Amino acid sequence: MIPANYHIHTYLCNHATGTIDDYINTAIEMKIGEIGFADHAPLPEHLRKGITMKPEETEFYISEIDKRKSLFKNRIMIRLGFEVDFPMHDSFDKKYLTDPRIDFLIGSCHFIDDWPFDHNAYIDEYERRDIDDIYSRYYKIMEALVDSKQFDIAGHFDIVKKFGHRPKKDFTDIIERISKKMSKFGLTAEINTSGMLKPVKEIYPSHDIIETFYRNNVPVTISSDSHSPELIGYLLGYTLEKIKKIGYKKISGFRKRKRYEIAI
Ligand SMILES: [Zn+2]
Ligand SMILES: [Zn+2]
Repeated sequence: MIPANYHIHTYLCNHATGTIDDYINTAIEMKIGEIGFADHAPLPEHLRKGITMKPEETEFYISEIDKRKSLFKNRIMIRLGFEVDFPMHDSFDKKYLTDPRIDFLIGSCHFIDDWPFDHNAYIDEYERRDIDDIYSRYYKIMEALVDSKQFDIAGHFDIVKKFGHRPKKDFTDIIERISKKMSKFGLTAEINTSGMLKPVKEIYPSHDIIETFYRNNVPVTISSDSHSPELIGYLLGYTLEKIKKIGYKKISGFRKRKRYEIAI
C-alpha cells in the first residue's frame, strides 16, 4: 500500500499522456491511498507552448477532476491541485487561491528569468552561464517562493541539478536557512522520484537535503510527478522506506488547502 502521490499531471499540459481516468484506474490497481492532480497552472502565452494549459482551460481542468472526487470516492481519495510557477503569473487567476474545490498548490521554479532551465531544448544555456550563479539564483527564487507563503508544497526542491550540473560552491547554509523558514511556515517539501529518470539519476531533493529537512522538522510528502499513468507509482515504495529510515513517521496530505498528516 502506497499512502499517496501528490504530483500528477494530465494531457492538458501538452507534454503528458493518458486520460485522467487512466491515472485514477492505475492508482486504484496499485493501491495508492490518495492521489493529487497537480497539473501545470497556465503560464503567459510566450512561455506556455507545450508546458501548461491555457487560462481558458483552467475551469475545465478543475471541473474534470472535481467531479471524479465523488465518482471514485469509494475506491480512492482524489485531491485537486496545481503546480504553479513561481513567481506566480497573472495568467493563473488569483481567485483559485481561495477556491474551495482546490486542495493544494505546489510552488515550483522552472525558470531563471525567461530561461526554462529544466527543459531539454534549452540545456546549452548551462555552458554559457556560471554554474554557481545558476544555483545561487535558483535558490534565491526558492527562498522567495517559501517567503511568499502562497503554497502548500515546495516542488522538486533541487531540480536545478536535473541534467547533472553540480555547483562548485557549497549551498548547505542557504538550504539550512530555507529549511528553517519552511518549518516555521509549515510548508511541506515533496520527495519527488522523477529525477531518477533524468540525467542526474537522483530523487528531488538529495538525501542530504531530506536529512536537513528532517532535522528542521520540515513536513514532507511523496510524489512521482507522473506525466504518464504507468509512472504513477514510480519508486514510491522505495522513497517511503528511504524517508522512514531518515526518521519520518508521517507525510502530509491536503484537503481544501489544509494540511493533515498520514501515518507511514
Ligand atoms: Zn510537466
Ligand atoms: Zn515541475
